[in-house]
Amino acid sequence: MPPTDPAATAADPAPAVEGWFATGAEPHLIGTRCVACSTYHFPPETFSCRNPHCDSTSLEEVPLSRRGRMWSFAVNQYAAPPPSLNPDPFEPYAVAAVELDEERMVVLGRVANGDDLSALRVGQTMEITVEPIITGANELVWKWKAAGS
Ligand SMILES: [Zn+2]
Repeated sequence: MPPTDPAATAADPAPAVEGWFATGAEPHLIGTRCVACSTYHFPPETFSCRNPHCDSTSLEEVPLSRRGRMWSFAVNQYAAPPPSLNPDPFEPYAVAAVELDEERMVVLGRVANGDDLSALRVGQTMEITVEPIITGANELVWKWKAAGS
């Protein structure tokens, strides 16, 4: 068992899922790439390549592109049922489907707090960020924000 960090408290935000994304100054998603056919996987695959034409089990962990193109999005005007976390009072939020620049795979994520939801457009450049799932929550998740915002 690792030693307990004396600076850590129950209130310190922590990734909601371990091993799917890296935090820090340049956060990024963590994927795996097949050594045989170069297929990318997210969430990271550790057993075998998901390409139906490949039977390799040799996968390497790789950082995924921090930017991508808005493929589609939806602005949710209602509070999702539990166990989803919602701010009180509820505020509309957006979910974006972003095609990663290099890997060309589409990854879903909430749009970052503070982004102007009425300004979202298909085709715009989005960038990954990490923040609490809702303001004040301890669960960190990846989100998409308009590049440059
Ligand atoms: Zn493969």
